[in-house]
Amino acid sequence: MKSDAIDATHEFLVRYGGDTFPRLFTSARGTVVTDRTGRQYLDFTSGQMCATIGHNHPAIVDALHRAGDKALHFFSGMIPEVVAELGETLATKWMPEGLNKSIFINTGSESNEVALRMAKMYTGGFEILTLGGSWHGITGGVSAVSMASDRKGYGIPTPGVFVIPEPNSFRPYIPGATEEEAALANLELALKMFDMQTTGHGAAIIAEPVISAGGVLVPPKAFMQALRKAADDRGMLLIFDEAQTAFGRIGTRTGAEHFGVTPDIISMSKTLGGGLPMAAVSTTTAIEEDIFNKKFAFYTSHVSDPLGAEVSLAVLRVLEQEHLVERANVMGRYLREHMETLQQKYEAIGDIRGLGLLLGVELVEDRNSREPAHELGALTTRKCFEKGLSMNIRRRPERGAVWRIAPPLTVSESEIDQASEILDAALRESLD
Ligand code: PMP
Repeated sequence: MKSDAIDATHEFLVRYGGDTFPRLFTSARGTVVTDRTGRQYLDFTSGQMCATIGHNHPAIVDALHRAGDKALHFFSGMIPEVVAELGETLATKWMPEGLNKSIFINTGSESNEVALRMAKMYTGGFEILTLGGSWHGITGGVSAVSMASDRKGYGIPTPGVFVIPEPNSFRPYIPGATEEEAALANLELALKMFDMQTTGHGAAIIAEPVISAGGVLVPPKAFMQALRKAADDRGMLLIFDEAQTAFGRIGTRTGAEHFGVTPDIISMSKTLGGGLPMAAVSTTTAIEEDIFNKKFAFYTSHVSDPLGAEVSLAVLRVLEQEHLVERANVMGRYLREHMETLQQKYEAIGDIRGLGLLLGVELVEDRNSREPAHELGALTTRKCFEKGLSMNIRRRPERGAVWRIAPPLTVSESEIDQASEILDAALRESLD
C-alpha cells in the first residue's frame, strides 16, 4: 500500500462525503483510536456515535467469539435462541412499558424504514410529519423525512412528507418568544398546514428525542407531549428514532423515558451494536398483531442474525454492570463544567446544550448576532485532530456551527481533562 494515506484512499475508494481525516486507522480501544503511524487520538465521537461502551470492549470481543463458536447466520425463518433472548431483554429491561415486540435488523436507515412501513400498514395512511433538521438515514423512504441537503441529486423523494420547524433554544424562529412558546407555536402552525394540505391519510410523526445531526437540539418536554397528542388526534402513530438516544447516551434508558412520552414505535440502531451493525424496532402487541394479520414483511438477508444479537446482549449487560446510564449523567456534568469554563474564556462559544454525554457546543462570530462561526469550527476541529482529539462539527450552511461532543460513556475524568485542554489550545490558536 502506498505510504501516503490520502493517495491510497483517493485512488481505490469511493469518496462518500463528510470530513475524511487525512490518515488511515488501524485500531481502537476504549476512548482511543490509533492511526497506522501509531499516533493515538481521543475519540470524542464514539466512532459514528455507536461505541458507547468504548471501542472493542472485552465483552464485545467475547460475544464475537461466542457467536463464532455457535452461529453467525441462519435462514431468515429460523429464529436464533439469542434473538429471542434479546427481544425479552429489550421488553423487560429497556423499553417503556407496552413496547414489548421487537424486530432486529442492521442499520438505522433500515430500522426507520421498518418503523415507517409498520405505521403505514397499521394506519393504512402514508403521510408523514417530520422535524426540520432531522436525520433518519440514507435510504429512499427515510431520506425523504431527513434534512434535504443530503438527498439532493437523487431524484424525487417519497411524496407526502410535511415538516414541523424543529425546536431550537438558541435560535427560536419567533423573536422574543421563550423556547417552549416558540416550539409550540411553530408546531401549531405546522399542524394547521398539515391538516389543510393533507389528503387525510396520515401515517406517522417521526422525531429524534434529541435532534442530533441538526445541531444537538433538545426539544422542550411540552413539545414532545404535544407531538404525542397531535398523533393521537389524527390517528397517526408516533415514532421515536432513538439511534443515538437509546441505551444511556443521554442519561436515561431511552429518550422516551427522559421526556415521559411513550411513542407507538421506537427505532434503535447505533448504540445497540456498540460499533457493530445492529438495529431494532420495538412496538406494541396490538400493532404487531394487526400488521402480522396484514402480512407485514421485512425478511432481509440479515434480519434476526445471531451475531448482532450476541453482541447487543453483551452491550446491554455492560451498560448495567458498569452503571453506564448513570455514569452518562455524572461524566456529562463533568464535561459540561469544562465547556462552561471555556465559554467564560471565549466569546466564540455561544451556547452549550444537550443531555447526558451528548453535548452540543455552538460556535458564533459574536454572541449578539449569533452568526455561525463556520470557518472557526472547521479550523479548530482540524487543530484538535492534529493535537490528538477526534471531534465532529455539525456545519450545515443554513444552520449553526456546532461541535457534537459525545465520548464513550466509559470515558474517564482525565480523558475529559485532556480533551478540554486540546479544545482550549485549538480555540486559542485559531482565534490568535
Ligand atoms: N437516525 C439517526 C438519529 C441517526 O443519527 C442516524 C445515523 N447518523 C440514522 C438514523 C441512520 O443510521 P444508519 O447510518 O445506521 O443507517
